[in-house]
Amino acid sequence: MSPRQIVIFDIDGTLTDTTTLDDANIARAYRELFGLEIDVDWSRYRTSTDSGIAREILETSRGAPPEPAELERLTGRLVDLLAEGHAREPVRPMKGVVEALAALEQAGFALALASGGWKRTAEAKLAAAGLDLAHLPRAFADDHEERSGIIEIASARAAEALGARFERMVYVGDGIWDLVTTRDMGMPFVGIAAGSRGDGLVSNGAHHVLGDYSDTAAFLAAISAARPPSGV
Ligand SMILES: [Mg+2]
Repeated sequence: MSPRQIVIFDIDGTLTDTTTLDDANIARAYRELFGLEIDVDWSRYRTSTDSGIAREILETSRGAPPEPAELERLTGRLVDLLAEGHAREPVRPMKGVVEALAALEQAGFALALASGGWKRTAEAKLAAAGLDLAHLPRAFADDHEERSGIIEIASARAAEALGARFERMVYVGDGIWDLVTTRDMGMPFVGIAAGSRGDGLVSNGAHHVLGDYSDTAAFLAAISAARPPSGV
């Protein structure tokens, strides 16, 4: 029987423990390639995707959107910087994530990936973290400039691949932008964030937030009970 429910995961900070590493790399790549000092407070941008942010940065600074060849150089540089960083400090998967994904699949959920990052960098991070998820349908910033669009494309690809029609979709993410997107979409949300970042998700309306996946049963319970974030 085809699955009735799908759980769609963000990648950065949700499957891989990569948030802070990323900010420095992105700032460095924009400095090297475009001579720009960019703001790495991603919540200040109009969109929460690498493609939307690239457009906003370049249109604001020079009045023209990025050319495909420039994006090719940017993502190539980011992959190089990621590899250099990984050699110094290995990219890690989030704690317990392998077991949590296996438990979801065993419980009959379809899974998909929807990252606001570039395909090249997001897949490089999964590989560096040793997460073998090549079988999962996926969508990236290359596919759409809005996170909601990326989530919808990932879901459509999964439905197509599995011949399924999903009655319920849950999104798992770590950022405030993940929460805002699911609230706008009326989509159940589970936050993965520890400490003050986790508190921030709760105070902004998330009903289920876990620091990581170390308690598989708690994560599965959160997925089953998940509902859209409340308006604040
Ligand atoms: Mg993230």
